[in-house]
Amino acid sequence: MEALAKFKKELSSPKKIFITTHVKPDADALGSSLGLANYLIKKGHDVSVVTPTDYPYFLTWMKGNDEVLDFSKASDKPLATAKLEEAEMIFCLDFSVLNRVNELGEMIRKSKAFVVNIDHHQDPEDFADFRFWSTKAAATCELVYELIVEMGDKSLIDKEIAECLYAGIMTDTGGFRHPNTTKNVHLVVAELIDIGADSAQISNLIYDSNSVNRLKFIGFAITRRLVVREDLHTAYFVISKKDLKKYQSQTGDTEGLVNYALSLDGIKLAALFSEREDGIKISFRSSSDVAVNKFAASYFSGGGHKNAAGGKSTQSLKDTVERFESLVTQCQEELFHSESVTVD
Ligand code: 5GP
Ligand code: MN
Repeated sequence: MEALAKFKKELSSPKKIFITTHVKPDADALGSSLGLANYLIKKGHDVSVVTPTDYPYFLTWMKGNDEVLDFSKASDKPLATAKLEEAEMIFCLDFSVLNRVNELGEMIRKSKAFVVNIDHHQDPEDFADFRFWSTKAAATCELVYELIVEMGDKSLIDKEIAECLYAGIMTDTGGFRHPNTTKNVHLVVAELIDIGADSAQISNLIYDSNSVNRLKFIGFAITRRLVVREDLHTAYFVISKKDLKKYQSQTGDTEGLVNYALSLDGIKLAALFSEREDGIKISFRSSSDVAVNKFAASYFSGGGHKNAAGGKSTQSLKDTVERFESLVTQCQEELFHSESVTVD
């Protein structure tokens, strides 16, 4: 049977459904998960949303937030595990490789449930029974919208679902500024606004909810922790564990910081190195003609999209940054004068 038909058949009777998304969920990850969850609940399914880690405070307004289980929290883990074990369907949203969900990855791989992957990242791993996947989509929320329409259920999208989906599309397009802001993005967003999503309010909730500490932290990072290498068309932030502690950094506080480095005139590659408990987390951003996902995959165990990717390093902060600079120096030709970066 065709995969889509099989998927529709699976959903034709009430199911126990487990929805998860990538570590440190952003608005697209959480918005697609909760948008889908609210829709599936309306269809009569028993739905649980489990995130592998916590997520930023500026996303907690979404409908269904209070029921989300955080697998990294000791108090949520037993129930989250039970929900995964009893699930008949598992939805994996906004990621395509199982190592993006920590421990949950292997549990999903071993599960007998019908696994669905809805995503827009490149190079997906083959773990799903049904994949609704397109790298042309700006956001997983755009795909969730299209899947609901494909199911013939557009009329079930209410204001709350529209708000969840709008949030993900807004942030994954960088507020409708990145090259992924297609005609389809505008068409989908127009429908979501028509259904009741309040664009100004959502923008306010996500972009204008800074704490004083966060704003001071951004100021500190820009004045003291920004390295500009005009000769390499590159600028990057280096944030230590001590810096994060000093500004009482919360999950989400570094989000968007890397864009300030990319906003510099003449800068085509931007990075943010932040020292976390489990190693160095790296965010990469690039101008439209530079592919940063292949660079992240080749050298920093990561991946993502052409102009927005991430990775990690187990070296010290200093060694990671030194390695980065020398790689950028070596890869000048590939990074800035051709379509892609080749793997060593
Ligand atoms: P961010 O810098 O906002 O954390 O991530 C930018 C983009 O790269 C997002 O689409 C995110 O899902 C992806 N990404 C971040 N870190 C990783 C990683 O370690 N592996 C992969 N495959 N993708 C990542
Ligand atoms: Mn996304």
